[in-house]
Amino acid sequence: MSDQPHRILVVEDEEHLAAGLKLNLELEGYEVDLAGTAREAGERLLLTDRYALIVLDVMLPDRSGFELCKKLRDAGNYTPVIMLTARGAAQDRVEGLESGADDYVVKPFELDELLARVGSILRRQAWAQNGGVAPQLTAFGRARVAFDAHEVTVDGRRVELTRLELDLLRYFVANPGRVIGRDELLEKVWKLRSHSSRTIDNFISRLRRHFEDDPTQPRHFLSVRGAGYKFMP
Ligand code: CA
Repeated sequence: MSDQPHRILVVEDEEHLAAGLKLNLELEGYEVDLAGTAREAGERLLLTDRYALIVLDVMLPDRSGFELCKKLRDAGNYTPVIMLTARGAAQDRVEGLESGADDYVVKPFELDELLARVGSILRRQAWAQNGGVAPQLTAFGRARVAFDAHEVTVDGRRVELTRLELDLLRYFVANPGRVIGRDELLEKVWKLRSHSSRTIDNFISRLRRHFEDDPTQPRHFLSVRGAGYKFMP
């Protein structure tokens, strides 16, 4: 990694909020561009692939943040996305993660929380780019994973994983056969201590849907009652 500051794209149509985010992210040492519409965000993303992260509001004037995120992922753009979702809308959080977002923050949010999430994702990304401790290429069951290329296939069929799903998979692959607690996953993969362990369970379910023949009878991503999870290649 170079010493260049991370460049972040903030996609938010509420000008006061956008300006406040820009200022505070810049105070943290990031470079920040703003986009007020999904269209403008799309144009910026076409111009440069230098964004380390995107902060993406769900409610935009021209299309939803979900649609934009999904479009990015479909186009092979895996830049980490933190979604700004509406208060109390549990459905939004699920939809956000399913559209390929890496994390979400519920509006109105504490600035400190958002900055912590941004820092967490960027640290995790640096860790992943430095190779973590997993091999770059691995196979288990009928899956093949090229971590560097972000290419995952099951039976030769391409499987789309989000950055966070890939990081979680990388951690499991680096620790085969070992019981791994939720706290450890939070600390090592999420780089957080405050997240709900329910989040981890949701991600495990997603890995099972991707990789298990029968997600209700997992053979690779095993639950260990009262202890956490275990990956069996
Ligand atoms: Ca908005």
